[in-house]
Amino acid sequence: LVQLSMPLNFMGMIYREIKQALIDIDDMFKILHRNPEIADRPGAAPLAITEAVVRFEDVHFAYVPERPILRGISFTVPAGRTVAIVGPSGAGKSTLSRLLFRFYEPQAGRITVDGQDIAGVQQESLRAAIGMVPQDTVLFNDTIGYNIRYGRWEASEAELREAATLAQIDRFIAALPEGYDTPVGERGLKLSGGEKQRVAIARTILKGPPILVLDEATSALDSFTEREIQDALDRVSRGRTTLVIAHRLSTVVGADEIIVLDQGRIAERGTHLALLAQGGVYAAMWNRQREAEAAREALKRAEAQE
Ligand code: ATP
Repeated sequence: LVQLSMPLNFMGMIYREIKQALIDIDDMFKILHRNPEIADRPGAAPLAITEAVVRFEDVHFAYVPERPILRGISFTVPAGRTVAIVGPSGAGKSTLSRLLFRFYEPQAGRITVDGQDIAGVQQESLRAAIGMVPQDTVLFNDTIGYNIRYGRWEASEAELREAATLAQIDRFIAALPEGYDTPVGERGLKLSGGEKQRVAIARTILKGPPILVLDEATSALDSFTEREIQDALDRVSRGRTTLVIAHRLSTVVGADEIIVLDQGRIAERGTHLALLAQGGVYAAMWNRQREAEAAREALKRAEAQE
C-alpha cells in the first residue's frame, strides 16, 4: 500500500501544480492562444512606452487562409482614450485583442504602440504593458488578497486596499469572515461572476498597465451589478489607453469612438450619438437590445406581481 500511495501522492502534487498554473487567467489566455511560430526577432528591443498610442494599420488576418477574418482594419486608440469594438458574434472582435497581444500576426498591415511595430519588440515587454480584464476570470485556490496581489506582488497593504476600493470589492471583502485572508476559488468561497470580475479589475488596477483590454462578459449580470462593474471599469480605464471588446451596447455609450465590425470590415465608426443619428447598423443593434431589455424587465415585473 505504501508503495502505491507514494506515487499517488506525487501525482496529486503534480496535478495540483498544473492546475494552479492553468488557473492563472493571463497564462490561460497565453496557453489557449500559444503560437510557436511567434518568437522575438533577433535583437528585438523592449517596447518603449511614451504615450501609449495604439494603432491598427490596414490589418488583414485569417486563422486559416480560406477564411479571412479581418480585411483591412485601421483605427487609432489615442493616448488615454477608449475605443469600443462592437459587432455580431464571430465578427472578429476578440481576434483584434489577440493580435494586439501578438498571439497571432497579421498577414498584412501592422499594429504599432507609440510608433513601434509590435512584431519587432520583445514579447514580454509588450505583454507587460497591457492589462487584460477577461470575460471569465478564473481564480487561484488561495486567499482573495493573494488573487488581487497577483497584479503586483510588491504592492503595499495600502495599495492593495486602494485597488480593492477602486474596483468596488472592498466592502464585500470587509464583510468576509477572514477579510483579505479568506480562501476563494474551487476549494474556498465561491464568488459570483460579478465578484470575480471585480477581483480581476482590482488586480489590473494594482498592475497599473498603460494599455488596457476589457473583454466584456457575455453572460448577463443583473443591472445593479452591471452598473457597479461599469463604474469600476470606468475608473480603471481613466487615463489609460483602452480597447473595449463589447458584447452589450450599454457599456460603450461613453467611448471616445465606437467601431462597428461586420464581416471583417469596419461598417461604421463614430460616437454613440453620431452613430444613432446615422440610423445604420449600430442604431439597429441598439434598438434591438433596448427592446430585448424592455421585454426582460416587463417579464420580471409580471413575475413579481404573481
Ligand atoms: P463573439 O462576440 O462571439 O465573442 P468575436 O467577434 O469576438 O465573437 P472572434 O473570437 O474574434 O469573434 O472570432 C472570429 C472568427 O474567427 C470566428 O468565426 C471564430 O470561429 C474564428 N476563430 C477564432 N479563433 C480561431 C482559431 N484559433 N482558429 C480558427 N478560427 C478561429
